[in-house]
Amino acid sequence: MKKALILDLDNTIYPVSSIAENLFADLFAKLDQYAEFINADDADEVNKIKDEMTRRPFQHIAEEFNLNKEVRNQMIGQLRNMTYDLPMQPFDDYGYVRSIQLDKFLVTTGFSKLQWSKVRMLGIENDFKHIYIVDPEVSSQTKKDVFTEIMQTYNYIPGDLLVIGDDPESEIKAAQALDIETVLYDPWNKYPTKKPTYRIDSLRAIQNILS
Ligand SMILES: [Mg+2]
Repeated sequence: MKKALILDLDNTIYPVSSIAENLFADLFAKLDQYAEFINADDADEVNKIKDEMTRRPFQHIAEEFNLNKEVRNQMIGQLRNMTYDLPMQPFDDYGYVRSIQLDKFLVTTGFSKLQWSKVRMLGIENDFKHIYIVDPEVSSQTKKDVFTEIMQTYNYIPGDLLVIGDDPESEIKAAQALDIETVLYDPWNKYPTKKPTYRIDSLRAIQNILS
């Protein structure tokens, strides 16, 4: 019997693609300004970075692509102050999650200001008992640390919880390390070889897992 749900935000509650054009226009323009400092041997490198930016925290990408300090600082400077202030919609089937009568926690990684602005534009603030933003700019805390904190603060054992997210390398991995059951929301079957406890292509299916 589960007592609480822990949810990811980006691509779990709403599709990043729905805000990408507006959100990333200025950032991509900035990245283009610095294209010459990014691997000149690979014309596609800038596009690869843009694609990754729609999915993962910029700090991780900067490491992986070994971006130089100037590019990194410029991009992070802009990201740190960004907000998203246009209307946003959760996935159609998010309503099924909202109606589940269990405590819910939102745990999301990203720049604090931006993540909070998305929470507000989605109108989901009141759906959660507590919202945690894991901001690599502010602390070295990870999702695994936050899951541990939730268990300590609210006296849960791993069996009480279900972690729901779209990223096998982020919340799913963190939960597995703590023996918490996982639900991989993978509507486009991007990760057919990953082994979460449950795999769903609609948020509606969470109700079946709990029943
Ligand atoms: Mg996500």
